[in-house]
Amino acid sequence: MGNNVVFMPVKQMAAQVLNGVTIPMYFYNIIIPQLGNYFDLYPVNFDVDPRACCPLHDEDTPSFRFYEDTSSFYCFGCRKGGNIINLHRYFAERMNGDMPSYEEAVSFLYDYFLKGKETESQFIDKAKQKVDKEQKLNTDTEIVRFNYYRYNLEQSITFDKTIKLEVKKQLWEELDHIDILLSKNLIKADDAEQYLKAKVKEYINADATIKKMVPMSKGETFNV
Ligand SMILES: [Zn+2]
Repeated sequence: MGNNVVFMPVKQMAAQVLNGVTIPMYFYNIIIPQLGNYFDLYPVNFDVDPRACCPLHDEDTPSFRFYEDTSSFYCFGCRKGGNIINLHRYFAERMNGDMPSYEEAVSFLYDYFLKGKETESQFIDKAKQKVDKEQKLNTDTEIVRFNYYRYNLEQSITFDKTIKLEVKKQLWEELDHIDILLSKNLIKADDAEQYLKAKVKEYINADATIKKMVPMSKGETFNV
């Protein structure tokens, strides 16, 4: 006969995919290489943060959540969710315009990740080498010093009666954003401090400019 191609039933293939292909593997190997700098502001590192900017819709802050215990995901922005097979079907639909069938999705994932090529851990290790290289960006002293600066800044923003609530909210968001970058070791503490100083200036100046543009206080009138 000479035919040594083995056909595996879809059901069996799907079981192996669900068991062996993880959402982080799919992110590091398929999604991130395809979406490029979409993740620059919130780099994906599921070891330290289960959130990511959603690959299924456009957004600036992360609404996509990975649940390690159930190997599933849910996006609080576009409300799509499910397992690795669902993720591939949605992502392929977004990139190509057509959603692959369940069978097509299963055989793609099986062929790409499992079919006798590499082990699961190799897939993760290769994609994570870059992240690991950046792990020791800051010394403990730098982090302590930054945290002290950050704490004082937050206190002074919170209790400053001259800063409007909208401006305070923007600044608090900047603080949260920097906290995430630092916790992922993706920014130097010194750069984080410079960034926050610049943002405080920018937001407070913008607020002052708006005040100048609206010069009339109550009771004041223009002579026409
Ligand atoms: Zn989404």
